[in-house]
Amino acid sequence: MIEITNVRKSFGDLEVLKGINLKVNKGEEVSMIGGSGSGKSTMLMCVNGLEHIQSGSIRIDGIEVHDKSTDLNKLRRKIGIVFQQWNAFPHLTVLENVMLAPRKVLGKSKKEAEAIAVEQLKHVGLGEKLTVFPSRLSGGQQQRMAIARALAMSPEYMLFDEVTSALDPQLVGEVLDTMRMLSKEGMTMIVVTHEMRFAREVSDRVAFFREGLIHEIGSPEQIFEHPEKRETAAFLKSAN
Ligand code: ADP
Ligand code: MG
Repeated sequence: MIEITNVRKSFGDLEVLKGINLKVNKGEEVSMIGGSGSGKSTMLMCVNGLEHIQSGSIRIDGIEVHDKSTDLNKLRRKIGIVFQQWNAFPHLTVLENVMLAPRKVLGKSKKEAEAIAVEQLKHVGLGEKLTVFPSRLSGGQQQRMAIARALAMSPEYMLFDEVTSALDPQLVGEVLDTMRMLSKEGMTMIVVTHEMRFAREVSDRVAFFREGLIHEIGSPEQIFEHPEKRETAAFLKSAN
């Protein structure tokens, strides 16, 4: 479980998270929506300890991410993260790229790492692309490779930050389908997205970020059909 309690985060004088509270239960998919600059990406970075927080707490399975005594490298193995873009190593094949983390971080043998990478690449539908170089993949395939790379670490949580934003519209669907599959399989996920249809169809809950706060959170039905806050309704109108 991910427990975010009263999290405040500033960059210099600019406070970008102003007291975020959110619990994500095992197996849940929570989508984060909201305008640019509302703090969604910063929130994800704080969850896996890539950014410090000023106050509050973030616990993952009871372990405080921002405690000095926490072994962040160990904690991060539990949390896969996929961004808008991931620069694969161009001189390595797709398979070799996905094998890297199990080899280097988990200390798996070459054979074990290869088995893991093949399994995860098949899982995301790239079983035919093992020996090609990343530059030969479409944008959608590259994002699925990035997902496979994260899955190769056997994470318990997955964080996605606008993973389809840089894609041509016709490539968005295959990536969202992969994420939908993971959610169905029971992966615990936080998904920052502009894809309102995805948020509506896949989420257990949707959190609307506004000016560093979760302005409204609820089921997709609540957020999309009966938002309680007029800013939520206005955002959704502008997002369509
Ligand atoms: P979102 O992902 O919702 O678009 P962000 O979390 O990226 O929002 O940004 C929230 C605010 O924090 C913005 O005002 C942004 O300019 C600022 N910000 C983000 N990262 C940094 C940084 N590394 N240094 C300074 N300001 C930042
Ligand atoms: Mg962002």
